[in-house]
Amino acid sequence: MTELSTSATGPDDAAATLRAVAAGFSIPHRDRLTFNLDVDVCVIGAGLAGLSVALEAARMGASVAVLEGRQVGWNASGQQLGTVMPGFGVPIGDLIARIGFEDTRDLWSLARDGMELVRARAAEAAMPGINLTSGALEVSNVDIGDRLIGRLQMLGEDFGTEVEGWQIDRVRDVLKTDRYFHAIHYPTAFQFDGRRYLRGLEAMARQAGVRIFEDSPVVGIDHSGIRKRIVTPEARLRAADVVLAGNVHLGSPMQRLSDTLLPVWRYAALTQPLGARLAEAITFAGSVTDNDGIDHYRIVDGDRLLWSSPETTFPVDPKRRGGAIRRRIRTVFPQLGAVELDRAWSGVVGQTVHGMPQIGQLRRGLWVASGFGRQGLNTTAMAGQLIARGIMHGDTQWRLLSPFELVWAGGRIGRIAGQAIGTVARAGAGAAGLLARYRERA
Ligand SMILES: Cc1cc2nc3c(=O)[nH]c(=O)nc-3n(C[C@H](O)[C@H](O)[C@H](O)COP(=O)(O)OP(=O)(O)OC[C@H]3O[C@@H](n4cnc5c(N)ncnc54)[C@H](O)[C@@H]3O)c2cc1C
Repeated sequence: MTELSTSATGPDDAAATLRAVAAGFSIPHRDRLTFNLDVDVCVIGAGLAGLSVALEAARMGASVAVLEGRQVGWNASGQQLGTVMPGFGVPIGDLIARIGFEDTRDLWSLARDGMELVRARAAEAAMPGINLTSGALEVSNVDIGDRLIGRLQMLGEDFGTEVEGWQIDRVRDVLKTDRYFHAIHYPTAFQFDGRRYLRGLEAMARQAGVRIFEDSPVVGIDHSGIRKRIVTPEARLRAADVVLAGNVHLGSPMQRLSDTLLPVWRYAALTQPLGARLAEAITFAGSVTDNDGIDHYRIVDGDRLLWSSPETTFPVDPKRRGGAIRRRIRTVFPQLGAVELDRAWSGVVGQTVHGMPQIGQLRRGLWVASGFGRQGLNTTAMAGQLIARGIMHGDTQWRLLSPFELVWAGGRIGRIAGQAIGTVARAGAGAAGLLARYRERA
């Protein structure tokens, strides 16, 4: 990839960044923080969460600096698949059981607004090459038509989400596999090139006046005073408000917060062109996820598959996981035969014990935006608005998330348990699917 030679730290670079995105260039290496600075808001971490908060706060009039330990979006935010869904990664019934119907409805509506905000940003910046397409399908691996009707009613009537129930025939008409039964179709969900969105978001933040410093890891925070002190290896920064958006990598500045996240590595791969055989197997143009959370895929570039599959709580070389992805593709669509991969990659998401993101104020002037798990596009946009409004206007809507406390994720034992639970759950889902298909045949 060609590198542009511009150096960028301010709004003037926004247009250059967008031009670079359009031309398919990688973004150049940017400035480190090498001088002391005073700002209204300091955001730690330049992933989707940090950039979303920074953009919103800057648009509301704050002076904002983002400190990024490596490069913008080097982790999960630059590796995601670009599927933008309503709601959260937690079943709606679990939310109702925990916080009640009314609050769940309010939260759901905020998350849906987050989805629309992502769409609006993509349109506003006319993000080049973002290639937005509509519709996502959540397929069931077992025959649960009756339960599905209940869920559809709740989502549609009580939660105002546009949904359609698809019968088995309709599902199998667009996804030629006997693995799937019913599905929920979300016509307003959408997908795009996730990396271009990240770059577009970065460009918008710069345009709004946000200063982004890369290779500037935060190594310490003194949050006791009115103005907080943030320390990097080369400089100090003072800010009235600090936003912790470092996901699982936050580390020493707030180790106890990092410890509330279970790191989960997600793996993804892009196949080589599959030609006409892909169009025979899949005619659905949007994203497909199964309700066991195992596979997530869609067609890109006409005849390639973008596919993400089982996760681990310990890092594994993505090339090795590529083999697992190829096997999953073959299991679901055996008619595709042997599929070669162009590349495989991974990113770490932060999973909270309750599954909901951490959004809110920990103490005066100290905010957190992390734990977005596997559904981070709409929820980071939502977090950006909630936190920026909290900082700038004293808005307290973020308190809707207060019942989801910071809970220790169990350290190494938690990771071992997480891996074991994931493996058992996948095996259980596999067995349930097998039984459902056997029953159908019988
Ligand atoms: C393979 C894959 C596919 C995915 N697909 C989707 C999808 O289709 N749809 C969807 O909604 N979600 C998806 N996700 C989830 C989504 O990517 C994440 O939820 C989201 O990107 C999390 O964003 P973040 O900003 O919290 O974290 P990150 O992207 O991890 O960003 C945090 C940043 O903070 C920086 N940082 C940490 N500590 C410090 C420090 N002390 N000082 C300075 N900087 C620091 C890090 O360097 C990092 O850049 C996917 C994730 C993966 C891995």
